[in-house]
Amino acid sequence: RPVAALAGAAGLEIGPGGGILVDERGCTSDPSICAAGDCAEFSCERRRVLPLGSIANRTGRLVANTIAGVEDTMPCLLGSEVIKVFDLHVGCCGETASRLRAEEVGVEEVWGAFTDRAPFYPEAATVRLKVIRETEGPLRGLQVVSGGAVVRWVNTFAQILDLAGGEAGALGRLEHAYAPTCATALDPLHTMASILESGPEMQLPPDAFLDGGEKGWTVVNMLTEAERNRVGLPALVGRVVEMDLAALRTDWRDLPERGVVTVCAKGGRSYEAARFLRDKGIEARYLAGGIGFYNV
Ligand SMILES: Cc1cc2nc3c(=O)[nH]c(=O)nc-3n(C[C@H](O)[C@H](O)[C@H](O)COP(=O)(O)OP(=O)(O)OC[C@H]3O[C@@H](n4cnc5c(N)ncnc54)[C@H](O)[C@@H]3O)c2cc1C
Repeated sequence: RPVAALAGAAGLEIGPGGGILVDERGCTSDPSICAAGDCAEFSCERRRVLPLGSIANRTGRLVANTIAGVEDTMPCLLGSEVIKVFDLHVGCCGETASRLRAEEVGVEEVWGAFTDRAPFYPEAATVRLKVIRETEGPLRGLQVVSGGAVVRWVNTFAQILDLAGGEAGALGRLEHAYAPTCATALDPLHTMASILESGPEMQLPPDAFLDGGEKGWTVVNMLTEAERNRVGLPALVGRVVEMDLAALRTDWRDLPERGVVTVCAKGGRSYEAARFLRDKGIEARYLAGGIGFYNV
């Protein structure tokens, strides 16, 4: 938290977050005094204090430019952050769904699980993302977790929020560099754009999976034997039917017309299955990000 008592006692305006209020040039309420770093609070539409070294260094330059008379401004802070927690990198950018809901903004959330390079590399790490957007509106936030690096997705998403106004279509149009050693031919953000486009209602959020027992869902377990040996389905998920994609294409009539949830390891095969079943008139959803995301 900012320690701004001295600035407050000197008559500078203190923001609602407790920091010294500055404008987009880093000037305080007394234009001859600037503030930067952890003690500063930007007065953009969403006033925020972000005690980060990344922001502190940029605002240091901003203030230096302002003092030197060089035209410079800082856009609204988006909250791009990354941290390593034991073996996982966790990153985020923009808003969370709960913060937006508290402001009575309608939100949609989509989840996806990918690898950070071609999956046949033994050192490929799983990357799990969640994208938040206003209902039928702009993108508002990203959260990402991986045993590998996550910073590239946080930084790319921040540019979409800042430079493209959060336009959802811009995610799908991103140009990205690819070599199988370090990336995938389609970036995870491209697929997140497709998931948004194909309709978030096809996804069952990972944290809703356990409602299945109570709601009487039929869970189509598509995990292969090898996958089942690594991770099984939790108890209490509803009636479980074991079918792979090939079996589902022939035996789909055995499934009820409503309340079907398809489950695979990462969400790819189960998406295809849910799409197939919906084309047959069955109200099916797939467990977003697969059983791996649910476990995380
Ligand atoms: C453990 C830790 C890990 C972090 N890791 C990250 C990270 O990975 N990524 C990231 O973006 N950010 C990280 N941060 C945050 C980042 O360090 C801060 O946001 C950044 O250092 C703030 O810079 P600053 O110049 O505003 O303040 P500071 O770096 O705190 O500098 C303030 C200076 O003022 C001095 N000072 C205080 N009072 C007085 C006084 N009365 N008179 C004279 N001098 C005084 C202090 O001694 C200090 O040297 C981390 C912070 C901590 C504590």
